Amino acid sequence: MRGYGMKAVNQPAWLEKEKPVAGPMDAIVRPIAIAPCSSDTHALHGGSGEKIDTILGHEAVGEIVEVGSLVTKFKPGDVVVVPCVTPDWEQLGVQNSRSNAHDSHLMGSFKFLSQKDGTMAEFFHVNNADANLVNLPDEIPVESALMTVDMMSTGFHGVELAEIGFGDTVVVIGIGPVGLMAVAGAKLRGAGRIIAVGTRPNCVKIAKEYGATDIVSYKDGDIVEQIVAMTGGGSDRTIIAGGNEKTFAQAVAMTRECGVIANVNFFDVSETLSMPAYLWGLGMSNKDIRGGFCPGGARRIKKMLEMIKNGRVDPSKLITHRFYGFDAMEDAFKLMDEKPADLIKPVVFI
Ligand code: NDP
Ligand code: ZN
Repeated sequence: MRGYGMKAVNQPAWLEKEKPVAGPMDAIVRPIAIAPCSSDTHALHGGSGEKIDTILGHEAVGEIVEVGSLVTKFKPGDVVVVPCVTPDWEQLGVQNSRSNAHDSHLMGSFKFLSQKDGTMAEFFHVNNADANLVNLPDEIPVESALMTVDMMSTGFHGVELAEIGFGDTVVVIGIGPVGLMAVAGAKLRGAGRIIAVGTRPNCVKIAKEYGATDIVSYKDGDIVEQIVAMTGGGSDRTIIAGGNEKTFAQAVAMTRECGVIANVNFFDVSETLSMPAYLWGLGMSNKDIRGGFCPGGARRIKKMLEMIKNGRVDPSKLITHRFYGFDAMEDAFKLMDEKPADLIKPVVFI
């Protein structure tokens, strides 16, 4: 079968691979719609270390073509929403209430792209199908469902980590698709003021539609100074959904005592995170620093779909570019890699 991915770091390519095989609890899925992600382009450029002959992609809605002998909830022909994080639920690390944990790997439940071939292929493999897949509800468009599997789940995880409360002043650093979902989630959680940091006009427009009350540009000077000045002291909660290693120290600096800094940004393996102790109140400021990866599994995605079904959020606003046909995966991926100013999220309908 064919799939689009990387021959090696910085070498994107179509790859020819064996069709995956379903174990007793697994499913083989044919993608109906996929979305490339910043994490795929990050991997292509070596951001997650050396990687060879790997099909990329981890966001998909698809049709089941085969199930293992122990799968009871799904059958060939079912259209399913596939979480980007698919835990082996029998793993003790996963049972330790963190669905992205694993006994032996960092982010071990993130299997596509990091441990096996991804979703940008004619077929892809899903482990623990019964516990990880969700039937696409009739009333939810494929493209909206596709935005739940990573963008919405990850952006909302930033909000969960930040423990946003009523009236909190929240800063969301980075308003690509992940940060935009964090803005929407912060509003749903009752934030008072939501300050979004970013510059692309499309993203700024959607950030306001999702609930941002203020926009700050990191190109207009130090964001710490800007935010401390406009809030009279800093944020209660700061979510990092973009930027670089400097952003980490900035997030700590702009957050008030007893506040929370919640990171969902992927830092690069080559980066070192550092900050002067003073910014963390010499360790005495009770500022919580947290970071986390998108939770996995069917229940999580069902909850995200429930929010769409009941009109709480419309993640399809993220989609700026639509492509059609299997071969268009290459164009969509290249666009994601180039990241033109008008791009938020591309989707390929196959
Ligand atoms: P984008 O690249 O689309 O967006 C990045 C945002 O950060 C943009 O708004 C950009 O501004 C802003 N930004 C860039 N540089 C700076 C800076 N120096 N200071 C402040 N803001 C800056 O990313 P995505 O939304 O696709 O993804 C965000 C992050 O989340 C990525 O690191 C991605 O890998 C990660 N991710 C994490 C997951 C998880 O589970 N933890 C899952 C999925 C993604 P501008 O408007 O100017 O472009
Ligand atoms: Zn992703």
